[in-house]
Amino acid sequence: MKFGGTSLADLDLIRETARRVKAEAEAGHEVAVVVSAMSGVTNRLVDYVDRAAKLFDLREYDVVVSAGEQITSGLLAVMLQDMGVPARSWLGWQIPLLTDEAHGNARIENVDTSEIVRRFSEGQVAVVAGFQGVDVQGRVTTLGRGGTDTSAVALAAALGARRCDIYTDVDGVYTSDPRIVAKARKLDKVTYEEMLEMASLGAKVLQTRSVELAMKHRVRLRVCSSFDDSAGTLVVDEDEIVEKAIVSGIAYSRDEAKVTLINVPDQPGTAAGIFGPLADAGINVDMIVQNAAVDEKTTGMTFTVRKTDLDRAVKVLERAQPDLGYGELSADPNVVKVSVIGVGMRSHAGVAQSMFKTLSEKGINIQVISTSEIKVSVLVAEEYTELAVRSLHTAYGLDAD
Ligand code: ASP
Ligand code: MG
Repeated sequence: MKFGGTSLADLDLIRETARRVKAEAEAGHEVAVVVSAMSGVTNRLVDYVDRAAKLFDLREYDVVVSAGEQITSGLLAVMLQDMGVPARSWLGWQIPLLTDEAHGNARIENVDTSEIVRRFSEGQVAVVAGFQGVDVQGRVTTLGRGGTDTSAVALAAALGARRCDIYTDVDGVYTSDPRIVAKARKLDKVTYEEMLEMASLGAKVLQTRSVELAMKHRVRLRVCSSFDDSAGTLVVDEDEIVEKAIVSGIAYSRDEAKVTLINVPDQPGTAAGIFGPLADAGINVDMIVQNAAVDEKTTGMTFTVRKTDLDRAVKVLERAQPDLGYGELSADPNVVKVSVIGVGMRSHAGVAQSMFKTLSEKGINIQVISTSEIKVSVLVAEEYTELAVRSLHTAYGLDAD
């Protein structure tokens, strides 16, 4: 069981969480609980470090920002004990949950569950501080923001758990963002691959890395609310889903910006010349289109970067202009990427075409298109976000009745 910060925001909520854990333990399950910090606490800790020094030692950053989970793990253990449930807290180094040395964004290398498992046999519940681990130097590490999801999945995998229940403040994974699509429906089941697309496309229910890890180790995830008793959404292997929807969700990401270079000499090495310097600057490029001009001597190159990287990308390209020899550069931050996602589209034709038709009927111009096996994404002007997402949701029959 993993509980997020909103499920642990104060003592009353922690007590409520303890009751849920107790119910599972009393149902005869061996339970490991992984907790986040109280909501808002990690942000405050990050801010302390930011204000303490301009250039800080990331090893000390990890010592500070991992502190929130230490508090909630101890408090939850105390409350469980108070309810008569044997429990103890575990910090990352005590397990140990071994990570690499990439402080601030470490990767899990090994989870030693032997002592936790031994104590299961004595009826003890393990309450594990999420988000943190320890490296070979014995120093505290953290797993990147939202990392408790990843701690929980890694622990579930190491324990061979039947399931990893992610308790959060939403009651599951929806066909689209309920804040803009009133008719969004909760999905009973979704595949790892679809969830990955949805997570990385802006549906921020689970840390992307946790879904990758769950997919790799076939950990069945359940996303559910700690504020009601609904069944939530199961994130599972494709084989577990009998009736595969062709399209299971519409996602969008506003964190996109478009860059266009025109009159670029069309010759071998052009793409490498453009994207090399961007990669060197650590700028991630997402969608790319290239189109040749009629004269076949020049080409146009359009691509997207994250909004926060746009200014740097422009600078890098301006500096490279003499080498690249392009005519003009334009940058547009007012774009949104809208994606239609579904594993069923692997075996169905016409999914992209319905998307294009729906958008054209609404008078929405498509600027860039990209596809993968299970998704079609388009870039459109940001002002059309709601209209595009809602009309696609309707067009693919996803609206709730
Ligand atoms: N407390 C950490 C954060 O806010 C880890 C987590 O909640 O998953 O990022
Ligand atoms: Mg989270």
